[in-house]
Amino acid sequence: MTQQFQKLRALTGMKDLLPGESAQWEHLEELVREWLASYGYRNMRTPVLEFTQLFARGIGEVTDIVEKEMYSFTDSLNGDKLTMRPEFTAGMVRASIEHNLLYDRPQRVYAMGPVFRHERPQRGRYRQFHQIDVEALGLPGPDVDAELILMLARLWRLLGLNDIRLELNSLGQASERAAHRAALIAHLEAHKDVLDEEAQRRMYVNPLRVLDTKNPAMQDMANTAPRLFDFLQEESKAHFRGVCERLDDAGIAYTLNPRLVRGLDYYNLTVFEWVTDRLGAQGTVCGGGRYDGLIELLGGKSAPAVGFAIGMERLLDLWQQDQEPLAAPECQVYMVHQGESAQRTCALLAEQLRDAGLHVIVHAGSSGFKSQFKRADASGAAVAVIVGDNEIQSQAASVKWLRLSDEQTEQQESVEFEQLAAVIAARIL
Ligand code: ATP
Ligand code: MG
Repeated sequence: MTQQFQKLRALTGMKDLLPGESAQWEHLEELVREWLASYGYRNMRTPVLEFTQLFARGIGEVTDIVEKEMYSFTDSLNGDKLTMRPEFTAGMVRASIEHNLLYDRPQRVYAMGPVFRHERPQRGRYRQFHQIDVEALGLPGPDVDAELILMLARLWRLLGLNDIRLELNSLGQASERAAHRAALIAHLEAHKDVLDEEAQRRMYVNPLRVLDTKNPAMQDMANTAPRLFDFLQEESKAHFRGVCERLDDAGIAYTLNPRLVRGLDYYNLTVFEWVTDRLGAQGTVCGGGRYDGLIELLGGKSAPAVGFAIGMERLLDLWQQDQEPLAAPECQVYMVHQGESAQRTCALLAEQLRDAGLHVIVHAGSSGFKSQFKRADASGAAVAVIVGDNEIQSQAASVKWLRLSDEQTEQQESVEFEQLAAVIAARIL
């Protein structure tokens, strides 16, 4: 009697990346690491799991993320309240405080990896997704804000993306937001009839967030609301001007979007988003800004900070629209053999080829030449190496070039075992 187990599947909104697709991801990751290094950013890796309190405090209690999107649970062993990171910034700031990273110098750091939010899955919106997160810790000036934006413009250029536009705003300082807040609450009270339930709940706790709404019925109200930008004092304005001037220096176009407040609580001064029309409703590829209060809020010695996060799925979606799918061969050399002695010879020859930097698969097990050649072809290898009794006798392998252009007529040649690695490496590396 055979037992039939029920098939298991992945969670909704959490995607498997299969070998073919992951080639594109690895390509992007490589390019991104080089791009980050070219600005002096270093990698930092923090745990996926943190105390819930970190995000509640760091992101803000009255935010979409903390109110309804976090994967939180109680550790059944000791009752700790834990959360799967919904973003990187809070964890990276916690770590930099815990390890005293800002003790003697500023830090330019980045992280790349999965984050988790319980949202309604749709194109460009998943429950496990990936971010490239970049933070400049301990640097106060508009020069750094502008450099981060220049850096992003370079990434889009490197990827050949020319239709991601920049929206910019300034949230000023806490005192300016307080002055604006009173005017904004008065405006919200005057338009109470159009406010949805969420807006009514948030209007006194975090009125600025109400303007971040996507509810079409509230757009008029949001558009006519008093603008925080008009409440900025000279110092905040000068910071903003400093950013704009540097963007102008570099020829980077931007639009001022006074309604851009970003989803998180901790921002001040510069905030920005990069948006495209080519991704449907989920058009924001990157969001960022300055958060000078966060380090102190999380228990560190007060220090300024600015950063951004890129949504990797959205970036890849955009990038792939302009690209041939990346051909990802399994190997460069596929070794075909007949007989146990030939198979064992191949295993050793393959090690020599790998010493020479080649990627090699030795056909596993034993099967007929024909099916081995089929596998060799399907692997995408550039060359098949054949070893049978004759080859062992003559100590020379038969080499078959699988992907020759028309002019290259020779099909198969005999190459001494001793020369094999050198000959193949010379030809395809
Ligand atoms: P949105 O307004 O689209 O919900 P957000 O303000 O919540 O975005 P951030 O917290 O700023 O997003 O995250 C940075 C970037 O991560 C976004 O600009 C976007 O590219 C990406 N992102 C956010 N949420 C998701 C998600 N659920 N799935 C895939 N990518 C996401
Ligand atoms: Mg969101």
